[in-house]
Amino acid sequence: MFDVAIIGAGVSGVFTAYSLAKAGKRVILIDKGHDFADRQRLLADNPHIQYEGFGGLGMSEGKYNYTNDFGGGLSHKVGENTAMRLMEQVDRILCQFGAQDATFYTTADPSLMVKCRNAGLKMLTTTVRHLGTVTSQQVLQQIRHYLDDKVNFAFNTEVQSLAKQGDDFQLHLSDGQLIDAENVVIATGNGASDWLQRQMQQFDIGHGQTRVDLGLRIEMPYRQWQPLLQQTFETKLQLKTVDYTATTYCMNPTGRIIRKYEKGMVMPDGQNCNESTSQSENLNFTLFVPQYFLNQAEAKAHTEGVIKHINRGGERIVVQRLGDLSRGVITSAQSLAANSIKPSLVADTGYLPDEVPQIYLTAAREFFLRLEQLLQQPVSADTLLYGLDGKFYAPEKSTSEFFETTTDGLYLAGDCSGTTHSLSQAAACGLHIAKRLCDLG
Ligand SMILES: Cc1cc2nc3c(=O)[nH]c(=O)nc-3n(C[C@H](O)[C@H](O)[C@H](O)COP(=O)(O)OP(=O)(O)OC[C@H]3O[C@@H](n4cnc5c(N)ncnc54)[C@H](O)[C@@H]3O)c2cc1C
Repeated sequence: MFDVAIIGAGVSGVFTAYSLAKAGKRVILIDKGHDFADRQRLLADNPHIQYEGFGGLGMSEGKYNYTNDFGGGLSHKVGENTAMRLMEQVDRILCQFGAQDATFYTTADPSLMVKCRNAGLKMLTTTVRHLGTVTSQQVLQQIRHYLDDKVNFAFNTEVQSLAKQGDDFQLHLSDGQLIDAENVVIATGNGASDWLQRQMQQFDIGHGQTRVDLGLRIEMPYRQWQPLLQQTFETKLQLKTVDYTATTYCMNPTGRIIRKYEKGMVMPDGQNCNESTSQSENLNFTLFVPQYFLNQAEAKAHTEGVIKHINRGGERIVVQRLGDLSRGVITSAQSLAANSIKPSLVADTGYLPDEVPQIYLTAAREFFLRLEQLLQQPVSADTLLYGLDGKFYAPEKSTSEFFETTTDGLYLAGDCSGTTHSLSQAAACGLHIAKRLCDLG
């Protein structure tokens, strides 16, 4: 009998396991992906496994944002102070396992904040521990090593059935094992999964709306943004109107735009300048506008309707000059070739109003007006707009302030809860659940 069975070994599952193991709890961590060493060995030839196995999505760039301003709604669940305290604890654990020399900075800049407010924009701030891919993997490796003799593991394993029998849970694993656990923590990430859907039906777990963020990826001259980036690498700005909220996301000074392949769609994504041997003269970011749908099927239908229409059955991404959009004319290949801002991504020239819902264009136009006030200079007509980037979320599930469902002992941790959307908050959520389980004895 285990005290806790954790399903999913992403950061939320790993931080739950770490905290419980430290307290001497009997824990099994189950993941359908590979163990850390196998994952590292196999990743180069099998990019499809990049999101699965020990560390989950935590094997990525590892930018831990310690903030309640974005990255999820942990603070709404547990309170602002508790959320920050949990994230500080996440940072201490990361440092204990090798992140102590990773870049640590704050994006807060009080005088810039005032200027943004005067221009009608909110500046979102965070403290950041930016591990980068290499340190991220080293830290996960160290944590895996620490857990080796403290936690039972079942990799390449799925839970075929999960049932509550009396006070305990019985789990039937795909390797044939039958295990009993007093508590179960589901930590399977934000992917829409049939398995999680079945558990939600079985345990009658209610859910709220499904959020989808779509928006134009914007490429501007880096020098135009330089005055805003004196203190920080990235400035996160938000425009709120009665109709929508638009927020800058994944800003890459001197970086490039690359193609992102997700959920069968192709989207423009930002690449950090450190990931390439040369720097561009541009800065890029996406201006995301969240929209909410009754369920995941509706969200999927809307998103695919827009993005697959742009992709035209292939990898097509559309680009337009801001000046052409304002004048209501199509950007031609010739005008793009003569553009002062050189596109960092090869994309098809076109006319965005024919391809992108109006709200994303309205948000961009309004954002540029505020940005001009902030920069005290016009935004270049040669600014490039790429359609369309997307970010997807699991619907928020009904759980208590401890992420427990209405079934006693059944918890949802990290992004599958629909509450967290970031490494720091997913990991913090894991610590919060572990503390609760330890407090209950
Ligand atoms: C490309 C990319 C880059 C990102 N970069 C950042 C960043 O720099 N900073 C940031 O804050 N956020 C970033 N995010 C978001 C962040 O990675 C996630 O919010 C966070 O990793 C969520 O952690 P998690 O533990 O909830 O889920 P995940 O990390 O997704 O882990 C879920 C785990 O569950 C396993 N699993 C799933 N289903 C089952 C099942 N049925 N049975 C068994 N196992 C299962 C999976 O194999 C996986 O290992 C990024 C996201 C993406 C897609």
